[in-house]
Amino acid sequence: MDAEIIAVGSELLTPFRLDTNSLFLTSKLNSLGIEVRFKTVVGDDPVPLAEAFGTALKRSRLIILTGGLGPTEDDRTREVVSEVLGRPLHENEEIRARIEKRYKRLNREMPPNNLRQALVPEGADWLENNNGTAPGIWMEHDGIIILLLPGPPWELEAMFDSLGMARLACVAGNERIRSRVYKVVGLPESEVDHRIAPLYRPYQNPTTTILACPGAIEVHLRARAASESEGDALLDDLGDKIEMALGDHVFSARGESLEEVVGIYLVMKQQTLAVAESCTGGLLSERLTRIPGSSDFFLGGVVCYSNKLKTKLAGVPADWIEQHGAVSGVVAQAMSEGIRKRAGASLGVGVTGIAGPGGGLVEKPVGLVFIGLSDSRSTTVRQFQFPGTRERIRQWASQMALEMIRRKVRE
Ligand code: AMP
Ligand code: MG
Repeated sequence: MDAEIIAVGSELLTPFRLDTNSLFLTSKLNSLGIEVRFKTVVGDDPVPLAEAFGTALKRSRLIILTGGLGPTEDDRTREVVSEVLGRPLHENEEIRARIEKRYKRLNREMPPNNLRQALVPEGADWLENNNGTAPGIWMEHDGIIILLLPGPPWELEAMFDSLGMARLACVAGNERIRSRVYKVVGLPESEVDHRIAPLYRPYQNPTTTILACPGAIEVHLRARAASESEGDALLDDLGDKIEMALGDHVFSARGESLEEVVGIYLVMKQQTLAVAESCTGGLLSERLTRIPGSSDFFLGGVVCYSNKLKTKLAGVPADWIEQHGAVSGVVAQAMSEGIRKRAGASLGVGVTGIAGPGGGLVEKPVGLVFIGLSDSRSTTVRQFQFPGTRERIRQWASQMALEMIRRKVRE
């Protein structure tokens, strides 16, 4: 069974809001073996909405519309669906009573337009909304399943998980879709493809997609099979070959981020980490502390942006900065050694560079970054020249710092 999603909301056509409901729904549908063939984003405007819905009726057996079920005039999904299908709206007593009860419980006066949410197309079922007032709607029409879900993600997700999944599982086929993502660091996209294309090319199932992300390449595999275990076996078959070809550049095959992997290794090796950051301004610390339980391995860090604080907080000798400049290998080294000693950590990291867009020189251009990594025995310093904007340079710098730690702790 193939599905089509129509995300309704004028705000989704502005630069300020993105349709994320369809990502959630796609992941859930895939787990039931349902493939999403089309997605449309359309405003709260009856004419284009009717057009999008009419097109979907001609080509899809499952159509999910999200949003536009609210109480206000500009929410039109319910009316448009009813009109296109020629199934008039009737007030549902039970929904009405529930909405009234909800307002009573909250001790608030119910604005009368809320009752629009009690309207249900003829012959349709409704799905309870435990997190809001707009119920969902489930209907069948000429063999097509049509599902209307509320726009707010927390309402949609809870409703879909509790009611939508079970109902769809009854009508979905037995096929399952399984996917796996290999995350790769330290190889350019062309090199990744060069190594693995001969391996994946003979396979129709799983399918392979290569995606470039900031500081990493992702290899996505998708398999269709009669069961989850059969799908996983297909993924293993090709996936193992891909993993061999990419070697230790693969840092994750189960969805973990690079910082999570680093955390796992550090805990496993019972090592601790402290960082001194200049051009990344705390990004590295931020990424590390995103992980629940990071206090088990991350002692902390300093943002030493000025020369003075590099000396004061990370113990970098002032004359080294004077002699070599703040963006230099010796300063990255001193930062990593200084912070390690001061924090009493097993590992210290120092990051210094020119994130731009200003401040570049011929001998020290924008994107030049030095990263030092020290333990009790030695210090390694690597010099990088990162491309792109300030944002990307900072992202790359934090990524490569994590990669240096990963390589060090898995030794
Ligand atoms: P609605 O049910 O159309 O009134 O939507 C209410 C709110 O849900 C909107 O203001 C959006 O912030 C959010 N929303 C609606 N549709 C989507 C979507 N497809 N993805 C993410 N958020 C959405
Ligand atoms: Mg809306």
